Amino acid sequence: MSRLLLTFLALIFLTAPALAQDQLNGLPPRAAPTAHVQVQQLAIVDATPKFDPALATKAYLGRVNGAARARSDAYFEGGYWLMLVDLGWTLAISGLLLWLGISGRIRDWADARSEGRAARTLIYVAAYVVIVTVAQFPLTLYEGYFREHHYGLSNQDFTAWLSDTGISTALTFVATLILVPLLYAAIRRAKENWWLWGAGLIIVFQVLVAVIYPIFIAPLFNHYTPLPDSPLKTQILSLARANDIPADNVWVMDESRQSNRISANVSGFLGTTRISLNDNLLKQCTPDEILAVLGHEMGHYVMGHVLRDLLLSGLLIVLAFAFIHWGFLFAVERFGGQWQVRGMNDIAGLPLLVALASLFFFLATPLSNSITRTAEHQADIFGLDAVRKPDAFATVMLKLSTYRKLEPSKWEEIIFFDHPSGRTRVMDAMIWKKEHIRDVDIRDTVSPQ
Ligand SMILES: [Zn+2]
Repeated sequence: MSRLLLTFLALIFLTAPALAQDQLNGLPPRAAPTAHVQVQQLAIVDATPKFDPALATKAYLGRVNGAARARSDAYFEGGYWLMLVDLGWTLAISGLLLWLGISGRIRDWADARSEGRAARTLIYVAAYVVIVTVAQFPLTLYEGYFREHHYGLSNQDFTAWLSDTGISTALTFVATLILVPLLYAAIRRAKENWWLWGAGLIIVFQVLVAVIYPIFIAPLFNHYTPLPDSPLKTQILSLARANDIPADNVWVMDESRQSNRISANVSGFLGTTRISLNDNLLKQCTPDEILAVLGHEMGHYVMGHVLRDLLLSGLLIVLAFAFIHWGFLFAVERFGGQWQVRGMNDIAGLPLLVALASLFFFLATPLSNSITRTAEHQADIFGLDAVRKPDAFATVMLKLSTYRKLEPSKWEEIIFFDHPSGRTRVMDAMIWKKEHIRDVDIRDTVSPQ
């Protein structure tokens, strides 16, 4: 989905796929219980290979250095500033619409064009989305096209990029035309309790998006074809059966249309289980690395992260609406006259709702990232246990460093990372390796020191 959508609805729309993959768990399992059993059983074997997880991690991280490391750090750290720029841009657009009285004038213009309340709301919303889309286009162009090309992450020419952006803009337009009138209907019906209804509406919408995304939306951007029969496909399906994932095919998605990022996915909601991986993963990674990635993705599926994340992001949305309700009343009491915004049920206040939602989700970034990141950590551990290829897992993590900083500080990781950093993930893999070092399949992977 496009990054141009800093409007209120798009913000929530955008958090859906990200949050829909993760869960929060206070006690991430560091070492699988089986490790202890195996250690005890095999303690009599004295020829234990020497293995230091910290040294092994350092050696892996040292493989990405010089210009590659600098570029990866610069790309990711630039993203921190862009979050601030995005927020400032959205607040500026909302501020101009309110302080210059433009929002009030659009409302009056819409009122003059129709008798029906629903039609007037629709006319306002349509005008609002067009204005905001145009005003955000320079930022969308920079973030989505020029910056991605500058860092060598995009494969798209301008026409193809514009076409994808057009599709996601159209989808946002339609979603906004449906959701905002429903939201204002809730405001009129439920009065002070509107924010609970509003939150419920967005949560239901997120579930709907999670269900229809793989079937109706993803194919608008990419083609899916079955992975031809191969030893790798047999291994993937065997891994799926071993983890009780009811899939009988593996799909390949042509991500290389857009970028050279690697990814895979095991999706399934309401009975449509699907294992997919992208062509970049196939081209850039070894079979062991591909299995390591799919082990992680199967972890998300088996641990039910989609559902739990919908619940957790639902809680965040309820908090967001409570904040918006409070912030709206506070601001309109002071400035409503100057903005020509008459109250909560006045559609001319929409830019204020959007500004407050943007501010909330900006401030909640460490929380939403931590919700996602903790689930990603669980999926990492699941994948290591299921696939038992810690070194392949580590080398894939290095490949992800093209767009994710490898070694952030502790707080940087907590605030800005929606996945564990490369260092954390390689270290997890190496700790797993040490704790399984006596197992025959792992012992043979340790070179004599
Ligand atoms: Zn994941």
